[in-house]
Amino acid sequence: MHNLSEQKLIALDHAHVWHPYSAMGSGQPVYPVVSATGVRLTLADGRELIDGMSSWWSAIHGYNHPVMNHALQAQMGNMAHVMFGGLTHPPAVELAQQLVALTPASLQTVFFADSGSVAVEVAMKMAIQYWHAKGQPDKQRFATLRHGYHGDTFAAMSVCDPVAGMHTLFSDVLTRQFFVDTPQCRFGEPCTDAHIASLVKTLETEHPHIAALILEPIVQGAGGMRFYSADYLKKAHALCNEHNVLLIFDEIATGFGRTGKLFACEYANIAPDILCLGKALTGGYLTLAATLTTNNVAETISTGKPGLFMHGPTFMANPLACAAGLASLQLLRDTPWQQNVQRIARSLETGLAPCRAFESVADVRVLGAIGVIELHHPVEMKTLQPRFVDAGVWVRPFGKLIYLMPPFIINDNDLTTLTQAVTSIIADLS
Ligand SMILES: *Cc1c(COP(=O)(O)O)cnc(C)c1O
Repeated sequence: MHNLSEQKLIALDHAHVWHPYSAMGSGQPVYPVVSATGVRLTLADGRELIDGMSSWWSAIHGYNHPVMNHALQAQMGNMAHVMFGGLTHPPAVELAQQLVALTPASLQTVFFADSGSVAVEVAMKMAIQYWHAKGQPDKQRFATLRHGYHGDTFAAMSVCDPVAGMHTLFSDVLTRQFFVDTPQCRFGEPCTDAHIASLVKTLETEHPHIAALILEPIVQGAGGMRFYSADYLKKAHALCNEHNVLLIFDEIATGFGRTGKLFACEYANIAPDILCLGKALTGGYLTLAATLTTNNVAETISTGKPGLFMHGPTFMANPLACAAGLASLQLLRDTPWQQNVQRIARSLETGLAPCRAFESVADVRVLGAIGVIELHHPVEMKTLQPRFVDAGVWVRPFGKLIYLMPPFIINDNDLTTLTQAVTSIIADLS
């Protein structure tokens, strides 16, 4: 199969392969990648693209990294997979131990899952089982922020933004959750009573039905790439305690340094009851996610009825994925990722600043290694995507958003190429 000509490959792809959020037969361009090293993707036609996406937040150390490769090859020689029911193995135990050490001190228990969406399902089930075990079975619903994104499975979808998440399509099967106004206090600004009023009202009136508040701290990702105040999180944390509602942080996108802190909750200096991790957990090598929780939640579930946590994926704690996670954490320890993220932030700020003057641009914002250009109108992917590729960069806009989140190892020259390509293509839109 590796010998398929490029044309044949694309034709077969169009005929048989469904891509994320796409229509079969749409004729949207799809680019065959044959290899990737560092920050460069090599296409089948020999062109090289500088990666501005880190494969959706995940490839923080770049591609084909010798340390990552070596760790996976070594683990492969021991075992690629073994079931996790009744068995355990060093990569899972070591990774759990390191995640517990890196995250807020109260989080002591790790449940491994196979994707971010599943980690969110697990978090929501933990919250419901917690209240069930405490004799409050009416607490089965969730409060969440508008403009959130938590994944594509049904429970995760129920807490995604109700408009962008297309809740009408699945209205009969989605649990109706409590949507709170998205925080209007921007990152670095204080959170006033008015900013938090919607959350206060929801928790005051609905808390007997609410198991947890689930949100993405500091950065709302796929639901709008919005950055908001750490002060809001502090207040939300206090409100949850006051109203007997658990707090779930979904750090699947923000975790592992992307915002400038190892975890975004560090900006607010608070710990959630449940924390979801994924994406960059394995440095983009394999699919793995984790749901962490406190001893209180874990013990309450385990000692109450039915006495078990009701979840257990077939590929739970896959040893290869755990080995990739360990190697990725090792690389974070061994590399000056904070300096890299700060350097990327400065470069994105300077490189994207000219966009502020363009008519088509509503907002330009940068936090950590995330640069966002929000336009007034949605882009036409079919025409825009080939222009980025022709400019030698891989950027995948959605809706009104063109955004960059390159691997932490990207150098200044490549960053300049990336921001210049984006700036000149947006200039042409105006
Ligand atoms: C990507 C993402 C998810 C879903 O993760 P998958 O691995 O795609 O299932 C959930 N929450 C957030 C914040 C994400 O960015």
